[in-house]
Amino acid sequence: MKEKARQARAENRIIGLVPTMGALHDGHASLIARAKRECSPVIASIFVNPKQFGPSEDFAKYPRSFETDCEKLRQAGVDALLAPEAAEVYPKGFSTYVHVEGLSEKLEGRSRPGHFRGVSTVVLKLLEIVQPHRAYFGRKDAQQARLITHMARDLNLDSEIVVCPIVREPDGLALSSRNAYLNREERKAATVLVGALQAAKQELGAGHRDALHLASTLRRKLDSEPLAAVDYAAVVDAESFEPVVRVSCACYVLLAVFIGKTRLIDNLYVEPKAPGSDELVFHL
Ligand code: AMP
Repeated sequence: MKEKARQARAENRIIGLVPTMGALHDGHASLIARAKRECSPVIASIFVNPKQFGPSEDFAKYPRSFETDCEKLRQAGVDALLAPEAAEVYPKGFSTYVHVEGLSEKLEGRSRPGHFRGVSTVVLKLLEIVQPHRAYFGRKDAQQARLITHMARDLNLDSEIVVCPIVREPDGLALSSRNAYLNREERKAATVLVGALQAAKQELGAGHRDALHLASTLRRKLDSEPLAAVDYAAVVDAESFEPVVRVSCACYVLLAVFIGKTRLIDNLYVEPKAPGSDELVFHL
């Protein structure tokens, strides 16, 4: 892969990288489509990274569909696939990790200790191997996208980190490989996440900017679903991921909710229409 990427760079081509854990869906496809519009070659990676799963998490049963994924990548016009084995990525004696301080400890990081250390380490490795001009990530994993953007800046990486909008099912559920875990009843219940975010959006649209007010709106909606157990519901600054008192700058409304045994995340991104403006633009 290094040799292939080196050759593309020597030909002055713009390399795009789309890292994934496979079990590909239309969310991944949207990243690939954006990369195809902006880059050639487009390289995708599939690697279910053991180091970003906790000991009691779903690494062993994470959905894997390699053959179907390869066909989807071919159809999407991806030029190359990087799909290494864990033993290649982490050879015997592997002991070097990247830790993005601060961001790694909050929210997702607090609920999933060690998760972001695994994410930043593997993403840095992928960026080092391919050295893409642009690497594409989904806003579905907002904290991950922020963490990677921050790491790229701190470590002077040459890759531009591009963050793409969330792709949703017709009923609003954010696409996720983990949606495959949901039974029929849970699948119905899972729309409570987007429902809660829509309720928050409505309150913000009506001029309520108080984070406590928004948090209680989220809770009320989420608590109305018997199959849902809230891990966190937070309103945070979009850069620092620190809680805000009022929504007056770019913010995320973030949710992590168990539907049965399946942990789902979703978010609403809100930003002022123009610098200093009181009017908000919503990205759901
Ligand atoms: P994953 O395979 O779940 O690790 O995801 C690979 C990339 O696809 C990450 O950058 C995700 O944020 C992104 N992604 C996953 N789901 C979606 C979605 N519904 N919409 C947009 N991007 C997504």
